[in-house]
Amino acid sequence: MMQQVKHLINGEWQLGEGQPMIDVVNPANQNVLATQTAASDLQLERAVAAAELAFLQWREVPAPERARLMLNFQHSLKLHHDELGELLAQDTGKTFADAKGDVWRGIEVVEQACGIASQMMGETLENAARGIDCYSYLQPLGVCAGITPFNFPAMIPLWMFPLATACGNSFILKPSEQDPLVPNRIAELFVECGAPKNLLQVLHGGPKQVDALLTHPDIKAVSFVGSAPVAEHIYHTGSQHNKRVQAFAGAKNHMVVMPDANASQVVNALVGASVGAAGQRCMAISVAVLVGDAKALIPQIQMEMKKVRPGVWNDPEAGYGPLISAASKQRVAGLIQQGIEEGAECLLDGRDFRIADITAADGNWLGPTLFANVTPEMAIYQQEIFGPVLLLMTADSLDDALTVINRNPFGNGCSIFTSSGAAARTFQREVTVGQVGINVPIPVPLPCFSFTGWKGSFFGDLHAYGKQAVRFYTETKTITSRWFDGDVAGAPNMTIQLK
Ligand code: NAD
Repeated sequence: MMQQVKHLINGEWQLGEGQPMIDVVNPANQNVLATQTAASDLQLERAVAAAELAFLQWREVPAPERARLMLNFQHSLKLHHDELGELLAQDTGKTFADAKGDVWRGIEVVEQACGIASQMMGETLENAARGIDCYSYLQPLGVCAGITPFNFPAMIPLWMFPLATACGNSFILKPSEQDPLVPNRIAELFVECGAPKNLLQVLHGGPKQVDALLTHPDIKAVSFVGSAPVAEHIYHTGSQHNKRVQAFAGAKNHMVVMPDANASQVVNALVGASVGAAGQRCMAISVAVLVGDAKALIPQIQMEMKKVRPGVWNDPEAGYGPLISAASKQRVAGLIQQGIEEGAECLLDGRDFRIADITAADGNWLGPTLFANVTPEMAIYQQEIFGPVLLLMTADSLDDALTVINRNPFGNGCSIFTSSGAAARTFQREVTVGQVGINVPIPVPLPCFSFTGWKGSFFGDLHAYGKQAVRFYTETKTITSRWFDGDVAGAPNMTIQLK
């Protein structure tokens, strides 16, 4: 019997009653892993109603008890780390190590949620006016929703629902239709760890279900991660319906290589950061800007990239896996063709790659691709490629490199490789990008900080995890308090003479 993807509604796993959706396939061989049907309107209404009821009960549970659920959950995710990694590798094509990394980055956010009690502490000021104390609480919002992309099916749902529920909210997750198996398994573990049965709902679907969540009057906040046009739509629609929205979008991340950088560190970092995970990371480096004599590194970069080959998830030599879908491969291959036609120099063309493993002959494989002499008006520069493609540009100075990056509409991540503290400091101050690496190619912050994309890579105010997520999933209530019994209200009215 073919597996069918189920929805978690009011604590019960049930089949979708809406329209049929795309099959869930292993992108390394096109084997169908599961079929799926979207949630019907009625199922969505039931899920929201169940989440609303869950919120009213869950908000009464003390924060340290909510944290205990997160401690159990963190332990369970660690116990199931290999199992989740293998499932994730089947569903996305990622190598096993990369798939486990996806899960691990999510576990780290659950660890943040374990300390929720101290993170939800408000502020106090005794005697803010005579006999009057002021204090503030952070209170949960209500039902929150999260819409997630295909490329991190463990980490990104885990950016959202553990912190939202630790803050006292209930949550509705709408995972990517391309790889829903891992989010479902994670939700099962959450329930097994003792989460109240209707605290987390998992609904599957596409734009119709997302729009229903965005416009639903009982949903208070929406977290989204995905492509730029959809992020903009989510932000505008959710805001128009009076919701708090955070929408993480696409990227075009640059690495500046100064002539004084350590050559082997640059080359290793560039290769891993550009083609790792088949370039399907929102923090992947897709453009290297070689300043001055750093352009002498081009042959070395080409030689090292040529050594990387994609492969199936359990091939220990594989540098990365297939693209998520045949459509994705076709889109990236089309952009490579356009790059060639627009005059970029194609030093490596990944479209020639053929996998040796015949059981994986139908996978969405693309070898590492390298372009030199890229200019800002080319389509390969203007669009997010989201494939194993690295673009090389040159600049005469750090200022020129900064101009290129700061003109780019995206601002998710960037990095500089240099041995000059002065150059690094100028870069970190002047660059209009939210996450900056100094001799670190992919500067994804740990959850004690927040994930802070800028410009067209983010719509909203408060970012993911860290302190900002606690603020996103809570509302501040400020209390001004005065009691008339006792002596306090009659305290002497001392006047201070200010000079
Ligand atoms: P996507 O935008 O196609 O899909 C994301 C989610 O939105 C899915 O759940 C999908 O069902 C839903 N969706 C798709 N079209 C919709 C529409 N028209 N209306 C409403 N909902 C819709 O993104 P993807 O291809 O799954 O993920 C890759 C993208 O995500 C890349 O652009 C990548 O840069 C971005 N991403 C960004 C970050 C970040 O932190 N900035 C992190 C990961 C991925």
